[in-house]
Amino acid sequence: MKKSLIVLLSLLLLVPCASCAAAAEADSSTLPFDDVSPSDWFYGDVLTAWQSGLINGKSETLFAPDGSLTYAEAVKLAACMNQLAAEGAVTLAADTGSEWYRPYVTYCAERGILLEDYAWNQPAERAVYMEIFSRALPADALWPINEVPDGSIPDLGGVPEKTAAGVYALYRAGVAQGTGSDHACAPWANVKRSEVAAILTRMMDPEKRISFSLSVPAEPEHRIEVIDGVTYVDGILVVNKTYSIPASYAPGDLTWECRTALDALSAGAAANGLSIYAISGYRSYEYQLGLYDRYVARDGKAEADRYSARAGHSEHQTGLAVDVNSLEYAFADTPEGQWLAAHCAEYGFILRYPEGKEEITGYRYEPWHIRYLGVETAKKVAESGLTLEEYLGVTSQYAD
Ligand SMILES: [Zn+2]
Repeated sequence: MKKSLIVLLSLLLLVPCASCAAAAEADSSTLPFDDVSPSDWFYGDVLTAWQSGLINGKSETLFAPDGSLTYAEAVKLAACMNQLAAEGAVTLAADTGSEWYRPYVTYCAERGILLEDYAWNQPAERAVYMEIFSRALPADALWPINEVPDGSIPDLGGVPEKTAAGVYALYRAGVAQGTGSDHACAPWANVKRSEVAAILTRMMDPEKRISFSLSVPAEPEHRIEVIDGVTYVDGILVVNKTYSIPASYAPGDLTWECRTALDALSAGAAANGLSIYAISGYRSYEYQLGLYDRYVARDGKAEADRYSARAGHSEHQTGLAVDVNSLEYAFADTPEGQWLAAHCAEYGFILRYPEGKEEITGYRYEPWHIRYLGVETAKKVAESGLTLEEYLGVTSQYAD
């Protein structure tokens, strides 16, 4: 196949294409256009494409390299390439009149190169002309030379599947490579005539095709969003030493979900003859400010930071955290403390600051502090055996 295409290109170069484009000086070795200079990156491509008769100037002396290609012109090129490959010569000719492109449209539609109609006189969009071109040659004329896995072209998200398939085919064949270091396609931009010349040249001459490879970008493991100063990791509100919330974040009480879940937890404990109740729930920014300052005055800043949050860094300000029963470590060994550790996830809570995880959570063990996450998430975190920081892949450290 490779060989026959080169032969075809030779044919193109030697035999002026009677009808596709009247390259009057097809045997010329230099371009007659004032607006294409030998220093332009596309000079060689325009020369080859023009010599082949597939594309001609806008006038005797102007090529208009930055001009756009219309759908009608794209279809004409596709038809000519196809006929050349199939029959070794181009006999198609334009109609006279305003719908000059009709024979090419008919030809392409009959051969499955065109699957729909376009606004023929409008500038062609890059993705669509690539789709059309991808069907202009026999399938085995565009054999893949590049690793371009599905999903690796960065900006084809909203492009119809059949159009994207054509773009991928041209990338894989080394005919198109997109723009920029990430090989973006810019699918809805209009295609320039200089680019078309390059594509035509690479389609017809496999020697000119480009080697490169793309890979699918790794999904970030966790999605971090900051909305109104509040950080959500995978949709979970996170407050710790790394992530603060604004002073203005003030639900005023436990959230309805957290309060309802806490009531259910207390009822569940009561059914087992145990009493679990809140001793501290929502705390405002201002309250935390005073609390932290008192602890610093009493124990010093370093020690206070081990057990008390600075204002804006307290989970209690979210209305999603509760201290229950007793702020004594001995609580962990009571029937209530043991039942809480074993069952709080069933009600949507986790023990937020487990034993031996101070380096990770930023806080000493607190067997009484539970955080509401919802049943589904709380169970996942509990089953993982990880702290919330580890589960979400975040740190908990003050910047200073
Ligand atoms: Zn607490």
